[in-house]
Amino acid sequence: MQQMHDAVIVGGGPAGASCALWLARLGLAPLLVEASGRLGGLSVDNPFADDWIAVLPGMTGQQVAANIDTSVRAAGVPLRLDTRVTAVRPCKGGIEATLADANGDVSQARGRTLVIASGVRAKGFPEHPPGSQWPGVLIGPGSPIVAQDYSGLSVAVLGGGDNAFENYVYVRNRGARAVHLYARSVRAQQQWVQRAGKEGVRIGPYQVDPATRSVDGQRYDLILVFYGWEPQAAFADGLQLARDARGYIRTDFATAETSVPDIYAIGEVAHRMHPCVVTSMADGVVAAKAIQRRWERAGE
Ligand SMILES: Cc1cc2nc3c(=O)[nH]c(=O)nc-3n(C[C@H](O)[C@H](O)[C@H](O)COP(=O)(O)OP(=O)(O)OC[C@H]3O[C@@H](n4cnc5c(N)ncnc54)[C@H](O)[C@@H]3O)c2cc1C
Repeated sequence: MQQMHDAVIVGGGPAGASCALWLARLGLAPLLVEASGRLGGLSVDNPFADDWIAVLPGMTGQQVAANIDTSVRAAGVPLRLDTRVTAVRPCKGGIEATLADANGDVSQARGRTLVIASGVRAKGFPEHPPGSQWPGVLIGPGSPIVAQDYSGLSVAVLGGGDNAFENYVYVRNRGARAVHLYARSVRAQQQWVQRAGKEGVRIGPYQVDPATRSVDGQRYDLILVFYGWEPQAAFADGLQLARDARGYIRTDFATAETSVPDIYAIGEVAHRMHPCVVTSMADGVVAAKAIQRRWERAGE
């Protein structure tokens, strides 16, 4: 007979890992499922100093991710790495998740509750399917931007938010031959707008063709795209959870429960609070305590 976990948690970023750790230490039986080979979520791709976590001074995002891995393993949380949840559906007594591992093997996991902690992904070009790739076109911030050699290259940076302006300044200082920033409108904080200056910054409509790496007909060696983020939880579409206009899952502030009983959503996929490592981890705690209370009440 297949094991019934107290919670199947989808996503091993700060939110899901924190929820799993708390549930395990509260004496419940979670299963943590992570699509990639590592815990830590977006922090795995953050090579920069993370100066925003008061109890972890001097750490990079990647060290934060490594600490998450250590903490989850120390709590004895059952883990499925390199395993993607592809669908979820209600079953007797809870939820059944379909899991696909890196070898293409498919299995099922059952939980009394489901915790959706699958985070966000960087947005690409709206006219192309999510995940589309082209040579010389990098989508989103993080390690690939840092690993790139810019010497002598012409670079177009696209986007009007903090990430676009911050990375425009970054690339300009890395030996590129020419760098232009294209922003349809400006949403970035004033500190980044001022540091970017006016030269090379083009505000207004533009046309981009990723296949030829050109913007308004001008060809570039590299195009860096910073169009913001979008929630990733298509596997849960069949559950008809209430979402906001941008697709983020709506939750109850006190419990992190979604519009469907016993299904919780935490971290960036729910966009409950300012998204960062600390708020995502706090969300995990809120859901874990709500799940514990739920089963204590059921046992009364
Ligand atoms: C470059 C960069 C720098 C950053 N710097 C900071 C910083 O300095 N300080 C800070 O506090 N925050 C920072 N952040 C933000 C921080 O990393 C995020 O807010 C945080 O990681 C969100 O946690 P999460 O658990 O909600 O989601 P994520 O970190 O996105 O984790 C979600 C996880 O779910 C997994 N997943 C998705 N779908 C599935 C599925 N179907 N099945 C199984 N697994 C799935 C993903 O592989 C991922 O591991 C930074 C982010 C980036 C990109």
